[in-house]
Amino acid sequence: MKASPPRIDFLVAGSGIAGLFFALKASAFGKVTILAKGKADSTATSMAQGGIASVTSASDTFENHIQDTLTAGAGLCHRDIVEMAVTQAPDRIQDLITYGIKFDRNGSDGFDLAREGGHSQKRILHSFDQTGNAIQQGLIHACHQDPNINIVENQMAVDLILDKKVNPNKIGSPTALGAYVLDTQSNQVITYLARFTILATGGAGKVYLYTSNWDGATGDGIAIARRAGARVANMEFLQFHPTCLYHPHARNFLITEAMRGEGATLKLENGEEFMSKYHPLGSLAPRDIVARAIDAEMKKTGKDCVFLDITQKNPEETRQRFPGVYDRCLKFGIDITKQPIPVVPAAHYLCGGILTDKVGRTDISRLFAIGETACTGLHGANRLASNSLMEATVFAHNCAQYLGEQISKTDFLNLLVSDWDPGDTTNPDEMIVVAHNWDEIRRLMWNYVGIVRSTKRLERAKHRIRVLQDEINEYYLNYRVNRDLLELRNIALLAELIIDSALWRKESRGIHYTLDYPEQNVAYLKDTII
Ligand SMILES: Cc1cc2nc3c(=O)[nH]c(=O)nc-3n(C[C@H](O)[C@H](O)[C@H](O)COP(=O)(O)OP(=O)(O)OC[C@H]3O[C@@H](n4cnc5c(N)ncnc54)[C@H](O)[C@@H]3O)c2cc1C
Repeated sequence: MKASPPRIDFLVAGSGIAGLFFALKASAFGKVTILAKGKADSTATSMAQGGIASVTSASDTFENHIQDTLTAGAGLCHRDIVEMAVTQAPDRIQDLITYGIKFDRNGSDGFDLAREGGHSQKRILHSFDQTGNAIQQGLIHACHQDPNINIVENQMAVDLILDKKVNPNKIGSPTALGAYVLDTQSNQVITYLARFTILATGGAGKVYLYTSNWDGATGDGIAIARRAGARVANMEFLQFHPTCLYHPHARNFLITEAMRGEGATLKLENGEEFMSKYHPLGSLAPRDIVARAIDAEMKKTGKDCVFLDITQKNPEETRQRFPGVYDRCLKFGIDITKQPIPVVPAAHYLCGGILTDKVGRTDISRLFAIGETACTGLHGANRLASNSLMEATVFAHNCAQYLGEQISKTDFLNLLVSDWDPGDTTNPDEMIVVAHNWDEIRRLMWNYVGIVRSTKRLERAKHRIRVLQDEINEYYLNYRVNRDLLELRNIALLAELIIDSALWRKESRGIHYTLDYPEQNVAYLKDTII
């Protein structure tokens, strides 16, 4: 007889900071299964260098942090959410410390705080320049000690199981019963049933040709929620990090913003400093302004990159403060204590995502979203540096507390759920089509929907993405699924959502900049909701 599918209290897709932090909080109320698409530590969280923002010093105030967040968000942050997150952040930092994460200290004076672009104060807690890795490993270790938490690797959520599919006569919004999940090693699709399903699947940098993100950042959670009918918001606000290492063999390596906080300046090949022409804060201006300035200078000079220069700083201090960047650059023959680092902007962080409230609730009953995949109202039109790790902990905590109250009132739904139907699909023998479409979407997005946009280019991109989507859907329906094909289907949908949102916003605000509407317009002082 066939075994019945696993039934879990909390099914969490994602083993980054959001998923792991949620699990550690929710395990007090029930059993948690965490799915990771690849290895448990293949995440954006592992890659975070700079740190996590929180008011912890006596010379800083909540009001300062709130104001800096609102200023970066260019009018679209939800003030109530910003206040809630900023004032809760110190408690979440304490939780991280309880889970075993160590932040650098400054003798006995407290934390060694860094300053990053857009922050009026030093308030970034860090573990050298490998904060994300320290958090990732610390949280995984804590989860392994907890008998109520199970982490399963190589499991890719494909789509939600919705009661409406099982019972088409149901009236009202759908309820999530769990998810169909691809075991990426056996290529079988497994049914997982859950009381609550939580999407913590991270960002979508892979929609673009150049990105600081890891290879699995394909916006799966957003695509899954959208296909199920949930609203998504603010997808045009994709932040480009100004400084990724420019080297033919360096893939996705970011040069932390904290380096500019420590006095590094952006220069042209001839040594000329250029940021002071663009913003009074010079190289410490907010990210969107720095990324656009670099884009403009590269177009003006026809060069492939600009340079970040920290050679004026004491070499020993640089090596101690930025050991990760120092070692990595040295591997590529660049000694950052002696020569400027070649850098280019790259797609980095998605401010938009699945629309949620302060406990992570979505439009689909029993479906929650936390971390970078969610749009909570904290970031508005532009994220303040290092607010994202903080956001993930705050909303994971809120979500777990809320579900802790709900669990005793929420039974498993007794519906007969059928297994995934592979149909009469055959194995794809033309993977070249998938590889080609991957490349085409990412190039199209980089060239037509990048740092500086125009209506004409966006319309061209929209037309092209529709054609590609038809092709991909045909492929999806005709062939047995695998990770590459599923991710391609997801980035195609993400691309469409970004293009539609960018076309709707006929103004320039925060990270969204269009040549046709270069000014802000109060008529667009609202979220873009699809
Ligand atoms: C290079 C870099 C540097 C950064 N530096 C900072 C910083 O200094 N400070 C800061 O605040 N933020 C920083 N960020 C942003 C921050 O790291 C992320 O926003 C944050 O880590 C996101 O956490 P998350 O848990 O939402 O997602 P992630 O950490 O990306 O985890 C996503 C998880 O979802 C899983 N997953 C994805 N799709 C599926 C699927 N279909 N099925 C099952 N599982 C799936 C993945 O396997 C992974 O486990 C940086 C980002 C990058 C890329």
